[in-house]
Amino acid sequence: MTEHNWAGTHTFAAEDIVRPATIAEAQRLVAEHDRIRSIGTRHSFNDLADGDGVLLDLTAIDPDIVIDDDARTVTVGAGTRYAVVARHLADHGWALHNMGSLPHISVGGATATSTHGSGDRNGSLATAVRGVEFIAPDGGLRRVSAGDADFAGSVVHLGALGPVTRITLAVEPTYRVRQDTYTGLTWDDLFERFDEVTASGYSVSVFTRWNTPDVGEVWVKERLDDDSAPDMPDRLLSARRVAAKADSPAADGVDNTTEQGGVAGDWCDRLPHFRIDATPSNGDEIQTEFWVDRTRAVEAISAVRAIADRVEPALLVTELRTVAADDLWLSPGFGRDSVCIHFTWKNEPDAVRDAIAHVERALAPFDPRPHWGKVFSMPVGDSLPHLADFRALAERVDPGGKFRGPYLERVLGLPLS
Ligand SMILES: Cc1cc2nc3c(=O)[nH]c(=O)nc-3n(C[C@H](O)[C@H](O)[C@H](O)COP(=O)(O)OP(=O)(O)OC[C@H]3O[C@@H](n4cnc5c(N)ncnc54)[C@H](O)[C@@H]3O)c2cc1C
Repeated sequence: MTEHNWAGTHTFAAEDIVRPATIAEAQRLVAEHDRIRSIGTRHSFNDLADGDGVLLDLTAIDPDIVIDDDARTVTVGAGTRYAVVARHLADHGWALHNMGSLPHISVGGATATSTHGSGDRNGSLATAVRGVEFIAPDGGLRRVSAGDADFAGSVVHLGALGPVTRITLAVEPTYRVRQDTYTGLTWDDLFERFDEVTASGYSVSVFTRWNTPDVGEVWVKERLDDDSAPDMPDRLLSARRVAAKADSPAADGVDNTTEQGGVAGDWCDRLPHFRIDATPSNGDEIQTEFWVDRTRAVEAISAVRAIADRVEPALLVTELRTVAADDLWLSPGFGRDSVCIHFTWKNEPDAVRDAIAHVERALAPFDPRPHWGKVFSMPVGDSLPHLADFRALAERVDPGGKFRGPYLERVLGLPLS
């Protein structure tokens, strides 16, 4: 098979990719295959979604978006891209609490890995999940809802609990967001006043290349719940607000970003960095990300800056974001407010491998947790307290290992046979 992930950095080893048009067809495919892994829009950078049987792609199934105004939820096909459900919600007066940097990814794939945006008080996208419908190994449907004993273990699942057909997400009344870019933040301000920087808006991203005289750009997305929301200040500590729109931080001169310059718009057109009609980020790249406890953010960021010379040759850009703690077993944000230290690398695997080894060594004292869908080599080990519980849950719902793959064996210790 020559099918590969979005970035082209992983060629799937599975026998075939099957793409049912209905849930009933997906159920039949699950029942008749011995080994079947689920796949979303293929935006992960490693072999996470891959398997030694067939891959089940649910993106062709009708999104069938159902809003429940009283329960304040939306239920949607798991293969639906965020761009589709977000536009539908905004058009009907509703919103999600946050978005990742790109709206191109599927709801099922993003929540399965605890994909996140930014914001001191914003949990990952998986924290909006209120219900998940899985296909069981025999092809039957199995639903897990908030309040059920298995819920905290079932929301972030890496595909190990079976294909997800539909997901229910919490929604809230729609809101507008403005997005402003600040440049010239000094390293001293970042280190000495880190909490002020990340609290300067609803969602804050700091972009850097580590070895530059000042930090780089700070993108501040401010939530406007009504028309009387204040203007944004011209200065953020040492940084100055700029009117010009920033291009992709990972690709010089490429205009693929959402509206900036303080122009207010719907939440779904400002919270993602990248527009749905453009290639996000760089396109020819590898990504890595580590979550660390935000109480140790400054120490951890300083540790990476100390090895800037080792990191910079392979780097396109780093992004620093914050995410609120959650209680989802496999979420890297489990039990701790986090700072996420992200690396968009050049597509140079050898140089990237070397740089990742240096970053992992530098971050080791801070109990880092890797983003499941990005490239890393460290063992996950005891970092997540419910790992053994998750293994037991996976054994219970999939005793034959139908939904396993090499990644789950290597990283989570879920044996293939
Ligand atoms: C340009 C770019 C920018 C990114 N930005 C961010 C970001 O801002 N924040 C962030 O946290 N991550 C980011 N990512 C990573 C990305 O969000 C995650 O890798 C996410 O999991 C991708 O979703 P997907 O639909 O492509 O899933 P895939 O990569 O296809 O699959 C990921 C996992 O989900 C499982 N899965 C997918 N669909 C289903 C289903 N229906 N049922 C059961 N399991 C399923 C798969 O088995 C696999 O384990 C970015 C990636 C790219 C390429």
